[in-house]
Amino acid sequence: MRKAYAVHPDSASLTASMTPERPPRGLRLKLRWLVGASIATLVAVLAGALWLSYDYERNRKQDSLRDTVTTAAAGIRTRLRETEKGLLLLNADLDRDDAAARFERGAIEALKANPAMLRLEQRSASGRLLAALDAAPPRPNLAALRPEALRSEVREAMIEARGSGRIAYSRPYIMPITGIPVIELAVHRPGEIGSALLAVISLQLLLDRFVGPDVLSENALRLTLPGGDPLAAASAPTRGAGVYVASAPLQLGSTRLVLQANSIRRLPSVVPNLLTALLVLLSVALAASAGLLWRDTRRRVWAERQMRAQYAFRKAMEDSLVTGLRARDRDGRITYVNPAFCAMTGFDEHELIGSRPPMPYWDPEAREEYEHRQAELQAGRLSRLGVETVFLRKNGERLPVLVFDAPLIDDSGRHTGWMGSILDLSEQKRAEDMNRRHAEKLQSNARMATLGEMASALSHELNQPLAAITSYATACENLVGRGDPEPVLGALERIRQQCERAGQVIRSVNDFVRRRRIERRTVSVAELLSSLDPLIRLQAKKPDVRVAWRAEGGCDVIGDHTMLELVVLNLTRNAIDSMSDVPPECRSLEIVARRVEGGPRPEVEVSVTDRGRGVSPEDEPHLFNPFFSTKTEGMGIGLSLCRSVIEQHHGQLGHVPRDGGGARFWFRVPAAPIQAGSASAPAHMEP
Ligand code: ADP
Repeated sequence: MRKAYAVHPDSASLTASMTPERPPRGLRLKLRWLVGASIATLVAVLAGALWLSYDYERNRKQDSLRDTVTTAAAGIRTRLRETEKGLLLLNADLDRDDAAARFERGAIEALKANPAMLRLEQRSASGRLLAALDAAPPRPNLAALRPEALRSEVREAMIEARGSGRIAYSRPYIMPITGIPVIELAVHRPGEIGSALLAVISLQLLLDRFVGPDVLSENALRLTLPGGDPLAAASAPTRGAGVYVASAPLQLGSTRLVLQANSIRRLPSVVPNLLTALLVLLSVALAASAGLLWRDTRRRVWAERQMRAQYAFRKAMEDSLVTGLRARDRDGRITYVNPAFCAMTGFDEHELIGSRPPMPYWDPEAREEYEHRQAELQAGRLSRLGVETVFLRKNGERLPVLVFDAPLIDDSGRHTGWMGSILDLSEQKRAEDMNRRHAEKLQSNARMATLGEMASALSHELNQPLAAITSYATACENLVGRGDPEPVLGALERIRQQCERAGQVIRSVNDFVRRRRIERRTVSVAELLSSLDPLIRLQAKKPDVRVAWRAEGGCDVIGDHTMLELVVLNLTRNAIDSMSDVPPECRSLEIVARRVEGGPRPEVEVSVTDRGRGVSPEDEPHLFNPFFSTKTEGMGIGLSLCRSVIEQHHGQLGHVPRDGGGARFWFRVPAAPIQAGSASAPAHMEP
């Protein structure tokens, strides 16, 4: 989107118009919500996944414990059932002969088969002990501890067994003195009414012997009553953690016990396994990078907008410039031009972009100059001062311009080319030209006026003696016929006096012209040419004449610096004027100063050579005559004045035609004696 800028007097409003528009507030809020919601969802999903994994792990352990405890209870039950079966068989066996011996054998077997059984008794219906056998150590021997009278729990069990005709378990109880929790299994003997076999079973040993070591090592086990009162406990080396607790019923006839397991395991950690940890890490990294990406994108969009706004602002500024701008890369190829540059040269942007030297706007005659300048730039010899040159417009017009070049440095500090700003000097030149011509005209008019005054003064001054001479001459004519020589002689004397007076007038004019005394000092011609250089170039600028001068070493003369300057300027002015009609490539002026030895005295010769129209053979003899001029506005006193100045310096002024066309004016003046170490150094100035 291109932004238009209007120049506003209020800079604050200009700055404000540079600031790019932000997206509408509603859209920004929505975007923010969307990103916030996405991140929240991600976090929630993560937390949910973590919780599910945690919960699954916990449930799995809980279920496993429940299975374990149920299996353990079933195992105990199975072992007791085997005991029941064995006792039922023994019961049947006792009905045969030799019951006492059979009881003993059977009891030994039963005690062996069930390591939790402490004692096996045979009791009458009244509860009287008929026979008994105790388990061998290390199981506690109850023979001495067992009271004769049956406990109510056991009696009830016997009654129940008799009622069902088979077996029954007593309620569990703690044996006095020993403190052993036990339960008794009563097996009814149908032969003798009311008598029974009673097996005393240790609840503690039930846990210790009938539950597998793997279960015992992982859990604290307890046998309790259904109400929770503990009866026996088997503890793992570590205590139960109380996190995973499960219980299973242990139904022994009508007696119900509960087997409880308390696992030593603790809660699963929040990060239960490596995979979940990685998942969490990955998700956190993902959320962080999404956040960063969002922030980065926002910044990018903002920066892009700002860049676009700045570009539009800069473009508007460039388009409004009157200075031409032109960027070139390091190979000299044009990479950018502004509208002002296109307007100056008359070429379109697409005709200029990508052009390499020679550029379409180069003046073929100044091509060497451009190439030299380009080479200087390439070599890093950049002139801080602008360079005046000429461009050729597309329509062939010449355009004087002032070019400033500056290096183009990119953001990484690399030199990528040059940016040139070009000022159109045509208006300035036109104004300068007009001023110059105006000044020349004024000068010429002033000179003409002075000459006119001088001429009228002269004619006035000469008129009187001439009139007097005429009258005396007429008088002489009249007097000659009378034969008296005396008055004639008097008139002739008057004529002589008037002639002398006229001569006096002429001499006084001559004195006026030559009134200025010549100064005599050592003048270095090299310095003189060097100081005149700007003036000569100014003369040469308009007609586009190239100027070159050189002075050999030792070119010092004795004379008047100002008068010699006047001579050189006169000669260069004439030379430049003479080249106004020749083609531009031929317009060149050369000034050479050299020391000439070998004559009667050493001299310094200064020659001014042009390639102009030259001096015609008819004009040659009159060149140095006062008031001789072939120019419409010429006064013809320049060369005659120069000659008298040079003669005052005891020198000579002359002219020779130049080979190949043009003229060469020269003058020679006596050289100053060379003193050791004081000779002036050679100097030169190329075009
Ligand atoms: P002015 O320049 O006013 O004509 P000058 O005395 O300086 O007076 O020159 C006299 C004439 O000599 C000029 O009009 C011109 O015809 C001729 N002349 C002087 N210098 C040159 C030159 N370099 N080439 C051709 N003609 C010249």
